[in-house]
Amino acid sequence: MAKYTMSVKEFLEESKKGNINFLDFASALLEEVERINKRFQLLREICDIRDRLYLRPPLNGLPISVKDCICVKGVQSCAGSKILEGYIPPFDATCVHRVKDQGATILGKTNQDEFGFGTFSTNSGYGIPKNPLDPLRSAGGSSGGAAGLVAALDFPHVALGESTGGSISAPAAFCGVVGITPTYGLVSRYGQIDYANSLDKIGVIGKTVNDCALILSIIAGKDEKDQTSIGEKKDYNKSIVTGSRSDQARATDLKGVKIAIPKEYFQNLDKEIEKEVWNAIKKMECNGATYEKISLKNTKYGVAAYYIIATAEASTNLAKYCGMRYGLHGKLEGNFNEYFSSVRTIGLTEEAKRRIILGTFTRMAGYRDAYYLKEMKVRTLIIQEHKKVFKNFDIIASPSMPIQPPKFKDIEKLKPVEHYQMDFLTIPPNLAGLPHLSIPVANKTPIGLHLTADHLEEDKLFKIGSVFEKIR
Ligand code: GLN
Repeated sequence: MAKYTMSVKEFLEESKKGNINFLDFASALLEEVERINKRFQLLREICDIRDRLYLRPPLNGLPISVKDCICVKGVQSCAGSKILEGYIPPFDATCVHRVKDQGATILGKTNQDEFGFGTFSTNSGYGIPKNPLDPLRSAGGSSGGAAGLVAALDFPHVALGESTGGSISAPAAFCGVVGITPTYGLVSRYGQIDYANSLDKIGVIGKTVNDCALILSIIAGKDEKDQTSIGEKKDYNKSIVTGSRSDQARATDLKGVKIAIPKEYFQNLDKEIEKEVWNAIKKMECNGATYEKISLKNTKYGVAAYYIIATAEASTNLAKYCGMRYGLHGKLEGNFNEYFSSVRTIGLTEEAKRRIILGTFTRMAGYRDAYYLKEMKVRTLIIQEHKKVFKNFDIIASPSMPIQPPKFKDIEKLKPVEHYQMDFLTIPPNLAGLPHLSIPVANKTPIGLHLTADHLEEDKLFKIGSVFEKIR
């Protein structure tokens, strides 16, 4: 096993030279993933990769795991929900198709909160993923399995995740790994099992900023199958600052970078997080960046706006899971409503039911103006407020999460609204469709520095993130 403990970069170099025996690699990898999964429940399904090696350059068989809500041809894809048990897509999501085309091997489907409904992955229909840094604690959510697997697996591996309101940043921060959530539309959503269409974004979780840039460069870009996808992708590999640097170079690596620090994002934080994130900002300052405190006053409405918009969209998306076409089926008895209810009673978790009720309520005639349309206006204000900041600043910096990974026994005590409140730092950039990067403040530390840039400025995040990785 130890011989395959290597970074993605090393794997790509070694495989290019022909130094990897793929069958041996695949067997050792499978054994290791099974061992890890027994301990941490990070994957809902492991693929037998010995049958699935796509040994093509440039990725040469690099293992990639896929969040359960992203369709992989011929592999059960359930979005963490029992209601989709048995659903085997006859096609690949565009992002899966693109990585396969470049030589990736699909390792399996990572566990998640049902349809993305959660921050701690405790709402999965398939067991709860545990944090490899401490199994008594949450790996974050909803892409908890993805981030956990990146943290636990020392083989070369990158994970495809998805975020609607923070599901890449939250687990990346809790598991001490890197997560990029791109600009809304940069990566095609074709083949993603929808949570909320106007918010869903497929992104990447990896051990390093470089790993995330590598895979985002492959999956980004226009796709005719998704009318919201956009074509302005860049080669993000070029943004990575590489090589070991002399002290002199380090002191100027971030020269000219202007960082905005919103005061609203430094309230109600765990003290250790506040201290560590300030340390991180000071380190960037020592390397040439400047910072200024600002205010994003509308972000205080972010959580409320998000949970109205996201649940309204989710409640319509979930209507198709009625036991007729996809996944779970029941005994055909009674009229349609009775049958539909009986399947949904068993197939959905309590949280999904809560969100369907909330979302249906807020878009009903009579309430639509008061809730859904009003929150859409708040969303516009949040977008405008961010756009103004980016006229004068390159990035916004904050913590990724207000708390360190909580223990499961403490999560159980949270009321739904307290649970939702944990997203107050990740929701604004998600509502505004802005790209954001979560990067651990120190190696294997469950505290994330959150960097947000203007639309389509992922390159800036990768550049600054790759410098921070060296100086942290
Ligand atoms: N925690 C948020 C929610 O439950 C975000 C989840 C996500 O991004 N999928 O909606």
